[in-house]
Amino acid sequence: MKARKMNRRQFLKTVTAGAAVVALPSRLATARRASSKPNILFIMADDHAANAISCYGSRLAQVAKTPNIDRIAAEGMRLTNCFCTNSICVPSRATILTGQYSHVNGVYTLADKLDPEQQNVARLLQSAGYQTAVIGKWHLKTDPAGFEHWNILPGQGRYHNPVMREKDHAKKTHEGFSTDVITDLSLEWLKTRDKTRPFFLMTHFKNSHAPWHFAERHADLYRDVEIPEPPSLWEDMSHRSPGSKDYGYTISGIQLSRMEKKNYATGPLETTGMDEKQKIKATYQKYLKDYLRCIAAIDENVGRLSDFLGTEDLETSTVVIYTSDQGLFLGEHNYIDKRWMYEESLRMPLLIRYPREIKPGTINDDIIINADFAPTFLDYAGRPTPSDMQGRTFRANSRGRTPPDWRVSMYYRYWQHCSRPAHYGIRTKRNKLIFFYGLPLGAKGAEKKPTKAGWELYDLKHDPYELNNVYNHPAYAKVLKRLKAELLEKKAELGDTDDKYPQMLEIVRQHW
Ligand code: CA
Repeated sequence: MKARKMNRRQFLKTVTAGAAVVALPSRLATARRASSKPNILFIMADDHAANAISCYGSRLAQVAKTPNIDRIAAEGMRLTNCFCTNSICVPSRATILTGQYSHVNGVYTLADKLDPEQQNVARLLQSAGYQTAVIGKWHLKTDPAGFEHWNILPGQGRYHNPVMREKDHAKKTHEGFSTDVITDLSLEWLKTRDKTRPFFLMTHFKNSHAPWHFAERHADLYRDVEIPEPPSLWEDMSHRSPGSKDYGYTISGIQLSRMEKKNYATGPLETTGMDEKQKIKATYQKYLKDYLRCIAAIDENVGRLSDFLGTEDLETSTVVIYTSDQGLFLGEHNYIDKRWMYEESLRMPLLIRYPREIKPGTINDDIIINADFAPTFLDYAGRPTPSDMQGRTFRANSRGRTPPDWRVSMYYRYWQHCSRPAHYGIRTKRNKLIFFYGLPLGAKGAEKKPTKAGWELYDLKHDPYELNNVYNHPAYAKVLKRLKAELLEKKAELGDTDDKYPQMLEIVRQHW
């Protein structure tokens, strides 16, 4: 609450300052107002795991460098605990725009649409004097609302020669690799923008969503490199609850069988004569190499965007954010894909540069969620967080001034219930508690088949890779009790009550 009050104070200050310039000639007043509000360049990739950004220092950091993305962190802040509230493309994008959880904005699964009549941050920034644009992947099914300009891929879009649809225009095919095209279009818009107003540009890459195509120029990248395996590629799943252990998209299962097919996107994997272990190793190598080649195009294009800001002298007046709609498993737990509340899928990379406020090379481990983006953008625009947004601005955190009442845990819920079952849970800095409730609820497009229920508890201090579920361990009884209480409290506070699902009461009665 304290942060909200601070926002209002800041807001009043801005309003008062605004009143003082009323008497100035209007063009000067406009220019002065514009200079007090920074531009916001929000660069978002698709399924870009923090583990595949070298400044995050994972096992991949030595073999796959991302110098241009790392530069944002070196000149600004790297946040290490930014989490997605529902780790799947469409819902995360809706949360970023609305500042609301899925059960509030109505976008639970890939099958849901974002209602264009709903409030969203672009619309609010527009009313704060910003020129707004979104270019690239949109994926929210309805046309973007609140954007003066948009040029989007239909659905997932294509990697090569993408078809795009611009506001008030027919579809058009753009020659080239999608990440290069999306950057070209972003730069074109920036060059022709109205320079008397601050801008809010969302540049959304299609990279690095499956199936992983790459630009021709990256075809030989990593050819003779052995990509390090994660220890959990060979995880013994017997520690897992019945709620998770028999489900999931794996390297040894679906990814191997996809890659053996003749029509696999980057050519088939030849496995003749290999035993099972060799097949898994080969699948992992090909999966990672395709994926990292796909990432290489993002890194180059982030460099182009940064260079443009430098050339145009926009570096100090622009907040640059780099993130991804959620994380991705790169063979950890033998998994591909996302959706689960496990670390690699839950964590979003988050780098932010704003030289006027953020000290270069700083690191922050506060718990941030994707619902915090919209309130933060509004804070930069001098606007308070609307009462219907559930996130909080992290502007103060990025200046090294974390509000004393900042959240100590975050609530997560994945609804889609397919081969990756629905679940909810809570993560603190130290622990994670997950409840797989085994039912398809509230979700269009969810499979109707129930799965097994189960609980999992992880001690992330001693077990950062989540290889030891300690839910039934007596030493954790007290922690478990406290986390269950906090989970219920957080769930109620966010209005995710389950009252409309009577079958849930029975599940909870049996398993809580
Ligand atoms: Ca995604």
